[in-house]
Amino acid sequence: MDSILHALSSRQPEMLKLLRRLVECESPSTDKAAVDRFHRLLAAILRKMGAEVRAIPSAETGDHLLAKFRFAENRRARQILLLGHMDTVWEIGTLANMPFRIDHGRAFGPGVFDMKGGIVLALFALRTLRELHIPLKKNVALLLNADEEIRSPASRATTEREARHSDYVLVVEPPHGPQGALKTARRAVGEFELRVQGRAAHAGIEPQKGASAITEIAKQLVNIEYVANKSRYVTLHAGSIRGGTRVNVIPAEAVAYLDVRAQRAVDQQRVERQLRALRPIDPRTKLTVTGGFNRPPMERTPQVAALFERARRLARPLGIVLQETAVGGGSDGNFTAALGVPTLDGLGAVGDGAHAAHEHVLVRELPRRAALLAHLIASLGSE
Ligand SMILES: [Zn+2]
Repeated sequence: MDSILHALSSRQPEMLKLLRRLVECESPSTDKAAVDRFHRLLAAILRKMGAEVRAIPSAETGDHLLAKFRFAENRRARQILLLGHMDTVWEIGTLANMPFRIDHGRAFGPGVFDMKGGIVLALFALRTLRELHIPLKKNVALLLNADEEIRSPASRATTEREARHSDYVLVVEPPHGPQGALKTARRAVGEFELRVQGRAAHAGIEPQKGASAITEIAKQLVNIEYVANKSRYVTLHAGSIRGGTRVNVIPAEAVAYLDVRAQRAVDQQRVERQLRALRPIDPRTKLTVTGGFNRPPMERTPQVAALFERARRLARPLGIVLQETAVGGGSDGNFTAALGVPTLDGLGAVGDGAHAAHEHVLVRELPRRAALLAHLIASLGSE
């Protein structure tokens, strides 16, 4: 057997033990004290592993954690960035109803799949590379932020700065589906609000004095959905709409909430321009468009495809038939990919149920996925 996989397979019980510790230290994005506690737990483990650990302070969210592993002899060597997050969507106290437990080869618990399992893989992959003295010409940085689940407002700048110093970014977010497919493309996701101010009037007495905000917004939506959805790279839908007060009044106000997704940066820019350029069809109404995209798309560039191909090749001897997929939601990999740094996402633990009560990871896949990550770091780091 492969020496890296062999080492990791014998450590499966230790991996589970760490996973349990991490899951049992709850870390909801909205609770700074809790995420900071989780941060300290991890920082202590990483220091023991010989990493230089730095806290990147954040006032509103938990502090982000940056750990640098010196592998290369040259201090100034380029780096590989491992990217993930410490926060979860689960409030403090979730453990009481959803305790860490192992059942039929699956480990359950809040945040176990998204993405404490991925953190465990990163730590064990790095530890194994160290202990087996695998030579690397690059260093490795592990950046775990505290606010991914609330769209990374506080960590984005740090993520981008570290990415600029990196030749590759490996995101240890969960893979997709039971086969654990990697994510080589993610759409940009935007939320927009379309608000119309019309003119109220009595529907029976003087309807001609009114300008219906509902009619205006209905016409606008038909148009914009038609225009945007003509492109196969874009989807735009009004997911919610409100307007009017009572049935006999011409409505003065209406608002529609739009979910917009774009596969490529050009599509994102185009649809955003189209939305901002909307003008009232009935000149007596007023139209305002607010909102925007919170992450750029992660595009499947030739560099991303090559990175996936390398992972696929390395996975085969480990017994993994690696697949790739494109997904709708964004991650911090979208930021790094948009800077042109080859980024591969979905290198975390195989499982299912992100943000849901049945969230779990497959225990037997932990060593193999950690081995895949270790091999990928070794391969990219020896260039
Ligand atoms: Zn996540």
